[in-house]
Amino acid sequence: MKIFQCQQCENPLYFENTKCEVCGGNLGYCEKTCTLATLVKTDNDTDVNSHTIYTLLQDDGSQYRYCKNFGHKVCNWIINTDDASEFCTACALNRTIPNLQKQKNLREWRKLERAKHRLVYALLRFGLPVIDKDEAPEKGLAFDFLSDATASGNARPIRTGHLNGLITINVAEADNVHREYMRKQMAEQYRTLIGHFRHEVGHYYWEWLIRDRPEILKKFRKHFGDERADYGEALKKHYQNGPPKQWRQSYISKYAASHPWEDWAETWAHYLHLVDMLETAFYFGITTGEAFRDNSPLKMQADFDPYEEAHFAKIMKAIVPLTFALNSLNRSMGQKDIYPFVIPQKTEKKLQFVHRLLHGKL
Ligand SMILES: [Zn+2]
Ligand SMILES: [Zn+2]
Ligand SMILES: [Zn+2]
Repeated sequence: MKIFQCQQCENPLYFENTKCEVCGGNLGYCEKTCTLATLVKTDNDTDVNSHTIYTLLQDDGSQYRYCKNFGHKVCNWIINTDDASEFCTACALNRTIPNLQKQKNLREWRKLERAKHRLVYALLRFGLPVIDKDEAPEKGLAFDFLSDATASGNARPIRTGHLNGLITINVAEADNVHREYMRKQMAEQYRTLIGHFRHEVGHYYWEWLIRDRPEILKKFRKHFGDERADYGEALKKHYQNGPPKQWRQSYISKYAASHPWEDWAETWAHYLHLVDMLETAFYFGITTGEAFRDNSPLKMQADFDPYEEAHFAKIMKAIVPLTFALNSLNRSMGQKDIYPFVIPQKTEKKLQFVHRLLHGKL
């Protein structure tokens, strides 16, 4: 993720900030320019719906208001006042939000939205279509944030998953204790909200980008296997017997070994992890391995924007020293490794497939 700077006082800012702590300026994320814009209140400062109207400090001649979800402190994106929608691109994707009567749900929803907005940022940076289901019922994307308790008349737990563009996330996943419990239950190395979002949206884009394109589907099967294998049976087998002993040689996670679709979603999510880490490193200008010899594998310089970088090898070359450095920093603080993965060669090829697909080079 980009590290932003206040346009008024150059104070560094996070993607989620709504106010500059130094100069007090109001901030809003502008989708069009991918910037956290400093906002200026206008003279006639509200519209007919009593939304506050702003112009940008770096004036582009337009007027803006916050997304409706700004009121719940779950969104800081701004919308052009000419736009009829009340919601930004990220919030427009919500079909069901948690029941806000419960204070805890509001807290959990904030965490979900934080992860989802970061996801949507990345999708837009890749130039992927982000269309909500209201607009395109067949091909659009939507989110249901459901709690076990709110599924009235249904005692079964809510399962996080994807079906025909509808992504369901169990709100309980936003609770750190629950998520850690589930991580242990499922014997996973890594379980995060952003990981869930990236994984599930991977299933959605498989349908967009691969399913109906025979040439690409052929290449997909070469790397990931034949997705026509019985999915239900494969998952049953996975939960009964666990992954094959040698899974580390071919897959990024145990779950990826369950079925080609899951391998795809895990690999796709991992590619999004790598690009996000490298973008952050890029904005910090991170260089590692200065003290090592010239051709040391620990040398890296984050001098490229990974969303724009056409050469996959460059991404892979940078990620090894970067994650080694990240893990070392965590160990300094007595924390577990933040990047608990090893990328086997076969997975590297699969990641390359994702990369080429996103860059239109397959
Ligand atoms: Zn400022
Ligand atoms: Zn929004
Ligand atoms: Zn999946």
